[in-house]
Amino acid sequence: MPLTTEQDQVVEELRQADKLLLTTHENPDGDALGSLLAMHWTLEQLGKDSLMFMSPDEFPLPWEYREWTFEGLVGHPPADVEGRTVVFLDCGNIDRMPVDFLQEQGIHIVNIDHHHDNTRFGTVNLVEPDASCTAEIVWRLAHELGAEVTPPIADALYVGLVTDTGRFMYENTTSEAHRMAADLIERGVEPHVVYRRLFEDLPFRRLQLLQRALASLARLDSGTLTLAHLRKGDFEETGALETDAEGIVDHLRAVEGTSVAVLVRELLADDRAGKRKVSLRATDGRVDVSRVARELGGGGHPQAAGFTTSLPYPQLVEALREQVGRQLS
Ligand code: 5GP
Ligand code: MN
Repeated sequence: MPLTTEQDQVVEELRQADKLLLTTHENPDGDALGSLLAMHWTLEQLGKDSLMFMSPDEFPLPWEYREWTFEGLVGHPPADVEGRTVVFLDCGNIDRMPVDFLQEQGIHIVNIDHHHDNTRFGTVNLVEPDASCTAEIVWRLAHELGAEVTPPIADALYVGLVTDTGRFMYENTTSEAHRMAADLIERGVEPHVVYRRLFEDLPFRRLQLLQRALASLARLDSGTLTLAHLRKGDFEETGALETDAEGIVDHLRAVEGTSVAVLVRELLADDRAGKRKVSLRATDGRVDVSRVARELGGGGHPQAAGFTTSLPYPQLVEALREQVGRQLS
């Protein structure tokens, strides 16, 4: 397929840039990390000086990504940041990277993303809501730049693809997503090995946290809203980390009659006391959970979205019921 103007522009930006700084969103998921690494390794292969930035607060990363090492990662602004092209990957909104130095005037930003509600905060924007994942955009760019998609790059891209499509189950699972999978498998990806790394060999604390979440299960409004709530004590008593909550909301989606599944979890850091992270998943075409999330200070995709809130729990539940009820009626 011929390139769009936006794609052409970003390919040219990446070709011209000698020094880059890549970053993504806070609480990075598989697509964020996979896109970051794949882009970094692609640019290095092309002889560029590429660095990656993530806040030291993000570590340890979710257990799924334990085998990745991030050589070329900085946890502070490099002195020459103004001389670097800053590439954001999978980040719909610059507030999702709450770091001052990346939000200053004069920073040259290339924004590569697939969130339909991306605020186009970049100097140059490549926003493709039809892409299954940001990794799919990076995959196309790598080919376009003439880079070889090596086994490590293929692995990183495949992780982004598998995690963002919910293992090829969500609505974003297109024929192109499967063509990308086929290409990556031809380049050395072994799906069962990746699957085992991401979804099996679980630390027991993860199952204990899931057990707590399931014990808290509530079905509201005739079951259209299925909701679980994890408190600070649930994490403390199981030894679970915040990142161990990843994936729990997918168990809630599966219940008959559910239109929206919600996992609410209390944040553990002292400076976020009283705040909760909310993950939303829609299983009913009538509901766009990104609208619910935006209404409450976050964002995301129509079928998967999230936000962080200081609302007390009862008010939060009422707000969710009202927002979902409004879309269902
Ligand atoms: P999760 O519930 O797995 O954390 O996130 C699901 C989706 O919602 C992801 O696409 C993520 O980018 C988006 N999302 C989650 N939390 C936030 C948030 O606080 N702000 C915005 N804008 N998007 C979010
Ligand atoms: Mn993504």
